[in-house]
Amino acid sequence: MASKPRAAAVEPGREPVVQVKSVLNEVRETQLAVDLFRLGARLQLLEAETSLSRNRLIKLYKEVLGGSPPKGMLPFSVDWFLTWQPNIHASLFVAIHRQLQAGTSEQGIEIIVKAYRLYLEQMPPEPGHDPVLSLTRAWTLMRFLGSNMLTTARCRCCRGEYLILPQGHYQFVCGLCKVPSRAGKTRKVLDEVAALARA
Ligand SMILES: [Zn+2]
Repeated sequence: MASKPRAAAVEPGREPVVQVKSVLNEVRETQLAVDLFRLGARLQLLEAETSLSRNRLIKLYKEVLGGSPPKGMLPFSVDWFLTWQPNIHASLFVAIHRQLQAGTSEQGIEIIVKAYRLYLEQMPPEPGHDPVLSLTRAWTLMRFLGSNMLTTARCRCCRGEYLILPQGHYQFVCGLCKVPSRAGKTRKVLDEVAALARA
């Protein structure tokens, strides 16, 4: 993609322009932070994706959602993405993300948020339940893919793309084509995912 033109070097006496820019950037990042918190993002995600201070982010979280942000480490294991139901949800998210990315020059967190909203439309959580794939997990997933800790493979039965380990086997069959017996009740979900993954 074409790189954006860079702003000219700051000349003496040009500070007001820079200040306006940084105020606009702060507004943009604050709006992004509000969106991300509302979608369930963890504080660490915000710290990585915005330049807002931790204190600022905590205040913002309390204002938007009430209460304090949850503490604790981010999920940091590829294993979760390889278990049956998470794998299908996460693979669907990747398929949506790739489709969006192919049609835009946008990158990074904005496109992750767009893809995540579409994922929620396709896979709305059961009333009173959290979505299977959280935004923080979706974000972590894109990092795993970027660092080749995970990759995707085409299922030889349905031709859909699914998440596997980079050293995964060549003749790959996905969890939709080889459904574990305990997963039978989610047939509708499976059909939707298969259709999207093939798109
Ligand atoms: Zn398949």
